[in-house]
Amino acid sequence: MPTARPAAVSLDIWGTLLASDPDFKPARNEMLRVALAPGVAADVFDAAMRQADRDVDDRCVRDGIDIGFTGRIEATLRALELPVSPLVERTPELYDAQQRLALAHPPRPLHVELPAAVAALRVPVVLTSNTGMLPGELMRKLLVLAGFGGYPGVFSNELGVAKPHPRMFEEACATLGVPAADVLHIGDNPDADVAGARAAGLQAELIRPDGVSTLAVLDSIVRACGASA
Ligand SMILES: [Mg+2]
Repeated sequence: MPTARPAAVSLDIWGTLLASDPDFKPARNEMLRVALAPGVAADVFDAAMRQADRDVDDRCVRDGIDIGFTGRIEATLRALELPVSPLVERTPELYDAQQRLALAHPPRPLHVELPAAVAALRVPVVLTSNTGMLPGELMRKLLVLAGFGGYPGVFSNELGVAKPHPRMFEEACATLGVPAADVLHIGDNPDADVAGARAAGLQAELIRPDGVSTLAVLDSIVRACGASA
């Protein structure tokens, strides 16, 4: 739990503030299957997509690289031993279809009180996120729907690197206009969020991805700010 008052806060998004709508990934994966792998059973494609997404996430965190929408679908097709060539020209159409599904099934705050708790912070806030399948352009729209609109974002697909790469945290601090040592980064991944932030000179707080844990840290910051105001 942070004891000193940070001058600014950087927040991870997935697992820290937001959870997927449970209907989104099945609908998105089915859309991709129909378009790219109609001969593959729905449950087989869904399982391959989820496994590819996890494997790519692990690679991104290990190497600090960003692999997005196209790269994750490509990994799925390769795992299913299907050709990846149709993906090239269909990417814009598939991306638009994903966006429509995401806006129809937007992510939710992990805890109902989180949007108000972030708004109550009396310090600058930036959202610092590895974007995966959902790029920053789409995340900005989804964040508004989930009650986290208006905060600046540092998104891995826009930087071309992913947490724990130090450039993600340097960009967060530059966006905040606050020296790294005075910024607290909060996230649920020990490698991407905590080790990454500390290596870049920030303070870091690891939370459990249950919403309650994030809320407790945010409340402690609000109390520290009140105590020192
Ligand atoms: Mg996370």
